[in-house]
Parts: sequence; structure tokens; C-alpha cells
Amino acid sequence: MSIAEPILLTPGPLTTSARTRQAMMVDWGSWDERFNQLTASVCEQLLAILHGADSHHCVPLQGSGTFSVEAAIGTLVPRDGKVLVLINGAYGKRLAKICEVLGRPFSTFETAEDQPTTAADVERLLLADPGLTHVALIHCETSTGILNPLQEIAQVVARHGKRLIIDAMSSFGALPIDARQVPFDALIAASGKCLEGVPGMGFVFARKTALAESAGNCHSLAMDLYDQHAYMAKTGQWRFTPPTHVVAALHEALLQYQEEGGLAVRHQRYAANCQVLLDDMAALGLRSFLPSAIQAPIIITFHAPDSPRYQFKAFYERVKAKGFILYPGKLTQVETFRVGCIGHVNEGEMRAAVAAIAQVLREMEVLDC
Ligand SMILES: *Cc1c(COP(=O)(O)O)cnc(C)c1O
Repeated sequence: MSIAEPILLTPGPLTTSARTRQAMMVDWGSWDERFNQLTASVCEQLLAILHGADSHHCVPLQGSGTFSVEAAIGTLVPRDGKVLVLINGAYGKRLAKICEVLGRPFSTFETAEDQPTTAADVERLLLADPGLTHVALIHCETSTGILNPLQEIAQVVARHGKRLIIDAMSSFGALPIDARQVPFDALIAASGKCLEGVPGMGFVFARKTALAESAGNCHSLAMDLYDQHAYMAKTGQWRFTPPTHVVAALHEALLQYQEEGGLAVRHQRYAANCQVLLDDMAALGLRSFLPSAIQAPIIITFHAPDSPRYQFKAFYERVKAKGFILYPGKLTQVETFRVGCIGHVNEGEMRAAVAAIAQVLREMEVLDC
């Protein structure tokens, strides 16, 4: 554990394997046939994780995850559509902001940050406003780590003949989502989260029929997933300069994902990380913000220690000096901090992280010995 190579316990960028980083040591030409094969293989593997090859296209897009969320809304929601945005944290608010900026009509439904949206809520809202065409949902709301009931909400949305857009950025690859059972028009994720690639590209799983109908919807040239897909389908190439090193790293990360045992094993590892973190922090008297029933094994929000000597910035710096990067809290009402359980880390690293946290809190005289 060194400061030069810290362990990132954050929701992305996160700790990657040396092998994944090593895969970036080659310069690829964007016309290179082998690079095109790399892109095709990445898309194929991503679709397989979702069991979506028959129903959906995988459309990769340059940029951070938000670029892909914006592209999905801009491409798949027609300008006269109306989106119901379900909010229980910062990423839900960002979805609403995207609709606002893009000029797509929308309404919001907000619950408290420790309250999942329910299928019954969604049903009531859909019945009350027949003008709604789409529902947008955050699967795991990373601002707290809360898990929303995707399967139930997807069923209600489909039953009412509406279309679902899912931001599964922080859950895809770790929590099971099966496109054969969960109906959706778009599901969005990115390279640098549970797949343990490096950040720099997102991807949208777009229902084939929905994407085919979406020509001309988009307000933007660069964010148009219809064009991005059409060009790639025709040429095998990205429309504009591809993030070549990011694609190569994701390809290598996906090989390791399969070698590890795929989704079930990745899920188990993160769940074990989460449990170690909850148990060892509880032993220090540090309480988690969410009840375990709605806690996703992705990132955990902890209440800040109740001491006048605690201050996040100093705490963060001291833990960082011991080789671990934590994440600030994002709640407005209560003082919290967050610790991620995703990335190329296991129970050993989680134990070491909590030991470092304990040591720092003793040094700060926040904890008694
Ligand atoms: C990480 C994340 C995003 C994307 O954030 P970027 O900073 O644009 O990568 C979007 N939604 C959720 C739920 C996330 O966790």
C-alpha cells in the first residue's frame, strides 16, 4: 500500500488491475482492423452480460457516464415525449437536469434519500398523467448506495405501455439485470465502474426497435446514438476519434471479468467487501446511513463520527496518507462520508482500509482506544 498507488474506495474512477492498466501500453490506430475487432468484441461481451443480444444494440460513446445518459435521453425521447424522472439522490436530479437542458418535457417524483421509489408510486403517477411516454430511473443511486426495485418498476412501466430508461451506471456488471425479463428501451453504464475498466467511455443498450425509430430525434451531432450506431454498424468504426486506450483496457477488464467467473462472482466479491466494511465499521461504532435491505453492495454511506474533533477534510487526508482514498458524503441534511466496495479490491483491502480509518480516528482523538 503506497501513496503512489492508492486504493480508490470511490464509485469511479476506481482501483483497476495492473493487467488492465498494462493493456493501455499500445497505441491503436482507429482504422486498424484489430482495433475494430476489439470494439466489436467489447460490445458483444457487454450484451452477453445483459442477455440482450437479441433485443438490444450496444452503442458505445466517448466521454464519462453522464455523456451517455444525455445521449440516451436526447436520442430516444422524441421532442414531444414526456419523461417521468424518479429521484432519490443526486444522480436522479442530474437526469431531470438533462431533460431540462435538452428541452424534453418532464415531471419528477422525489422520495427521501433513504426511500426507494416503489412500483406502486410509479403506477399511480402513470395513471395520473397519460401524457407521459418515458420513465427514467436510477438503479443504484450512487449518492447514497440505495437500490431501487428495478424489476417491479420495469413491469409496471411495460404494463402501461410506456418506455423505461435506466441509469445502471454503478450496478451494471455486478447486480443481475436480464434484458429477457426486465423490459427497457435504454440501459446506460460505463467503462470505469463495476467492470473495472478505466473511465472514458459509456455505452447504451438501446432496444433495437426504439433505436430504429429514433432517427432525427437528437438535438446534438456528437451525442446522437442513432448516428453513432448506424456508422459503426456500417464501418465497424467509431464515428469520431475513439478512446482507443480505454477500449483496450475495457477489453482486458472484460477478459478478467469472465475469468473471475462473471457476474455472479463479481457480485459475491462486492457483497463480501460490503459486509466486511459494514461489520468492521460497526465494531468502531460507525453506523451506515441505509438499512441493509435497501443497501446495494456498491458504495456505503456512513454517518460521520459524532465528535467536535472530526472534520472530513483532515480525516480524508490522513486516510489518504495511509493509502486509501475515501469519498465525501452527498447528503444535505446529515454529515456523512462514503466508502466504495467496487473495483479491483477484496476483503483483505477492505479490512486494511477500516484499520487505517480506525487508526486515523484515534490519532484525531475522535475514537477512544
Ligand atoms: C458514476 C455515475 C454516473 C456517471 O457519472 P460521470 O461522472 O459522468 O461518470 C451516472 N449515474 C450514476 C448512478 C453513477 O454512479
